[in-house]
Amino acid sequence: MSGSRVAPVVARAPKERRVDEVERLTREVLKRLGSDVEPRARGRLGIPVSVSGRHAHVSRSVLDRLYGEGFRLTKLRDLGQPGEFASEQVITIVGRSMRAIEGVRLLGPVREYTQVELSRTDAIRLGLDPPTRRSGDLAGSEPITLVGPAGAAGLREGAIRATRHIHMTERDAAEQRVANGDLVCVRFPGPRGLVFENVLIRVAKNAALEFHLDTDDANAAEVRAPMTVEILR
Ligand SMILES: [Zn+2]
Repeated sequence: MSGSRVAPVVARAPKERRVDEVERLTREVLKRLGSDVEPRARGRLGIPVSVSGRHAHVSRSVLDRLYGEGFRLTKLRDLGQPGEFASEQVITIVGRSMRAIEGVRLLGPVREYTQVELSRTDAIRLGLDPPTRRSGDLAGSEPITLVGPAGAAGLREGAIRATRHIHMTERDAAEQRVANGDLVCVRFPGPRGLVFENVLIRVAKNAALEFHLDTDDANAAEVRAPMTVEILR
């Protein structure tokens, strides 16, 4: 062992040392990946990227129509956000073009509203032009028909393209120096590097730090999981 590694005179709390160690490892990994995205200060670590394929959230009454009265979604796997899950149940969706997309995953738990989240590519296939919206903001969104094994539900509105967003806790927000509702820019490095604008900050008590973007955005930026990004300053 080299004698140059002298223990610090003032012993630091184990938690603080762990944070330093995580930051050191992160720098090392990023350097090896050739990324020029560097954590600039303690706590400002990268934000994990998560790609959302097309999916639907359903209300109790719509689930009754699609899968039968009182049907309960069964869990396929947990999602990044605590309590949210991908169910084993899928539906077919149909748009104005009368073309369908099959195998659209239902996410749980059941919500107060029914919402289908599409990429622009999906929407073009379905003959729709859904607005870019925050979750639950459905007024004036596009009509869409949902088909399940027990029946169909024709919605006058409910198809959207989700606003790009980052989930985080209050503590993450303080560390990232942002607040709930802020719109920020996020830069993706690499040969297809680009900057995403209008990325919504969504702060919640029970959130996991995660940047959610749809498959069109992810493909444009050549996202390869797992990867992390930083908010552009
Ligand atoms: Zn999300």
